[in-house]
Amino acid sequence: MKIDELIINELIKSRANNRADLDFLKRKVAKKYKIPMPSNIRLLKLYHELLKEKRVKKSKKIENLLKTRPVRSLSGIVNVSVLTKPYPCPGRCLYCPLEAGIPKSYLSGEPAVERAKKMNYNPFSQVKTRIESLDNQGHPTDKIELRIIGGTWSFYPKNYQTYFIKRCFDACNREEGKTLKEVQKRNERAKHKIVGLSVETRPDFITKTEIKRMRKLGITRVELGVQSTYDDVLKLNIRGHGVQETILATKLLKDTGFKICYQMMLNLLGSNLKKDKKMFEELFRKPDFRPDLLKIYPCALLKEAPLYRFWKRGKYRPYTKKRLINLIKEVKKKIPYYVRIQRIARDIPSPRIIAGGSKLLNVRQVIARKIKSEGWRCRCIRCREIREDYNPKEKLKLFRQDYRASGGREIFLSFENKNRSKLYSLLRLRVSSQCNEERPRYIIPVLEGAAIIREVHTYGQLVPVAERKKLAPQHQGLGKKLIREAEKIIKKEWGLNKITVIAAVGTRDYFRKLGYRLKDEYMIKSLS
Ligand code: SF4
Ligand SMILES: [Zn+2]
Repeated sequence: MKIDELIINELIKSRANNRADLDFLKRKVAKKYKIPMPSNIRLLKLYHELLKEKRVKKSKKIENLLKTRPVRSLSGIVNVSVLTKPYPCPGRCLYCPLEAGIPKSYLSGEPAVERAKKMNYNPFSQVKTRIESLDNQGHPTDKIELRIIGGTWSFYPKNYQTYFIKRCFDACNREEGKTLKEVQKRNERAKHKIVGLSVETRPDFITKTEIKRMRKLGITRVELGVQSTYDDVLKLNIRGHGVQETILATKLLKDTGFKICYQMMLNLLGSNLKKDKKMFEELFRKPDFRPDLLKIYPCALLKEAPLYRFWKRGKYRPYTKKRLINLIKEVKKKIPYYVRIQRIARDIPSPRIIAGGSKLLNVRQVIARKIKSEGWRCRCIRCREIREDYNPKEKLKLFRQDYRASGGREIFLSFENKNRSKLYSLLRLRVSSQCNEERPRYIIPVLEGAAIIREVHTYGQLVPVAERKKLAPQHQGLGKKLIREAEKIIKKEWGLNKITVIAAVGTRDYFRKLGYRLKDEYMIKSLS
């Protein structure tokens, strides 16, 4: 009898009722037979084989135990978050906590922080352990979206940045390389491909030099700490930059193909419900902003942040739970189809928050329930993603939305069902502001006279590279169709004969198959 089979039989006999019991049993058997811990997906597969051969009886208990949070791989990727080491930040933001031994703006007790602390912020161990844990939970780990968090990325020393990212690649490649370039090349064909890489930074740190550097590091998405679109609020909270810096950073990043996530803060000192609501209207009304992704963080009142003193003196009042929920609901009503709300509220443990509605745990779920009971839908990408509802017979429609953004033109293409409640696949295409200028100055030479694909992604269950699943939309050719459509638009409507893609390292091969080649860290194709 195979060892895995032994575990299944032990599991059936045992009184294991939860994950801890299951892990204990797996560890015990692994130790006894000196083998690595088998993953849940492997055990689940074997269980189904045994069931078919009638060698075990159907057990709901086992099925539930082996199935883990499926949502983790239902957006077409798995997310791996890694924290940089504690390091000073040039900012002095009033609401931002400072805790010894923790990167600025983070707090002990946050799940990602605790994981990183245990590994002494070592990037290799963090990525390796996270992948192993996702593997054990039964998730395919072929396509990794790597998210680097902690403090202000652009303020960390350059050699630390290179070391950090190189070690993340090493962990995904499962072998050590000599240089960053070498490990990136290796990752193109690795088991765990990095298909997206994001960092968080301040708008005033986005310069042309920084952008070039970010591309060399393989970064494809930037989370900008925008927080507010009011100069007076930014000043009052000692942000150290104004709205103009956000506008400039947004333009530079979009023109070089990056996806942009705005981190916005509600309930800042100097703001109020009316102002906050108007801020989100402006975010999508003004072409200077229009981010692709959003994180909405209600300001959390923390003892470790200077804002606490203002509250003590009665100069600051957090919104109540009811007001906060209503405000976020109003914000959600304004979200356009091309935006994805990544997060609402941080993972800060509730007891650390002194007062106010942001103490509420699971705020996202509470709001989702309210919206459902009121009979309307949030239009954001996250709420429309197909997840496990894939129906191969469903008739899909190609939608197109053109909008002005940061001096250029954005074309958002998507495959969705007729009423746009289920989104299968999307593509963000940009004709940068420079394509219209008489004497444009391109930051990156390869982008000269070219349109740029900033994102192409198919949602639903993550399907490993080179596999095809009947019940998932990935690898059914939807992305390819969108790319062809983008190429057609660029050639026919814009008369451009060059198209580029800000492709993450792990997606380069995919684009090669479509006739693209690598140049200056971008994938490029001539349309002439
Ligand atoms: S820039 Fe970010 S990390 Fe730095 S103090 Fe401000 S909020 Fe905190
Ligand atoms: Zn939504």
